[in-house]
Amino acid sequence: MKVLVTGGAGYIGSHMIAELMENGHEPIAFDNLSTGNRKAVLCDGFYPGDIRNPVDLDRVFAENKIDAVIHFAASSLVGESMENPLKYYNNNVHGTASLLEAMGRHGVRNIVFSSTAAVYGEADEVPISEKTPVKPKSPYGETKLAIEKMIAWASGAMGINYISLRYFNACGAHKSGDIGEWRENETHLIPIILQNLLGLRKNFRVFGNDYDTPDGTCIRDYIHVMDLARAHTAAMMYLFEGGKSDIFNLGIGKGFSVLQIIEAAEKATGRKVNFTYEGRRAGDPAVLVASNEKARKILSWESVEDDPVEIIKDAWNFYTRHPGGY
Ligand code: UDP
Repeated sequence: MKVLVTGGAGYIGSHMIAELMENGHEPIAFDNLSTGNRKAVLCDGFYPGDIRNPVDLDRVFAENKIDAVIHFAASSLVGESMENPLKYYNNNVHGTASLLEAMGRHGVRNIVFSSTAAVYGEADEVPISEKTPVKPKSPYGETKLAIEKMIAWASGAMGINYISLRYFNACGAHKSGDIGEWRENETHLIPIILQNLLGLRKNFRVFGNDYDTPDGTCIRDYIHVMDLARAHTAAMMYLFEGGKSDIFNLGIGKGFSVLQIIEAAEKATGRKVNFTYEGRRAGDPAVLVASNEKARKILSWESVEDDPVEIIKDAWNFYTRHPGGY
């Protein structure tokens, strides 16, 4: 399949491209490089461009017979979205409308969309299933939910087939260590711990130890980025086989606390993690763990890597090979 990967130079998009290549597909990356890295793109086809620009999109669709779009291009930081919500509505919602219009112009009928567990906000139940009520707590989550709904409406009106995938905490790196998680302004737990261990970042702070959890720190569902990528391929193939448009959670179905992740990082790297406790970070729910039953049943997808030590070993491999980033 010829697959357009928007946001193909980003963390998850670049791993998606690796996974598609390993499975005999032909990915084409599309990215405005606002946060992505050109060096993370392992395939030949790369189109610099912005999803909000119809000219950029028409170029890639006209020059390639695209079978499906896997759509990652988005602004994706919760904190930033609180400070600059309109950036998120513009880039994410308007950007996706522009992408869907271009798909309409070029007769492309299949899209796999990168959504997020942030649509659930402070969920009422654990594990979180696709039936758990959605109530995002940030413009980031709101815009991802708005896009899910927009795609569903467009699907009815334009005959587009879609799968929206709500990710829990993506982490880890490709086994090769050639690509991994790297951002200019990192906010995520595992890369922050590893940057701290490499001396690239001074303080590592644990946000809150007074949550209603066994050790007082927040619990999350950490899923290996290659398991996520595999789920997108499964979703795309499901659509090609006539599967119906739908929404799925993607997590491993198990939760780990911040302190358990620190312990895993110490095992994975053989180094001691130093940290201080800080107050809670605004907007962090205590526990977010997925029920992944629906994806397992309908997409026949299983996570391969459930051990945070192994996941962190892969991330560490990338970091030690690229200590200064790409
Ligand atoms: N976290 C932390 N210190 C940091 C970054 C994150 O204690 O420097 C905690 C955060 O409060 C949350 C968990 O680690 O409970 C995962 O945070 P991350 O930002 O990686 O993902 P999120 O769950 O917010 O999407």
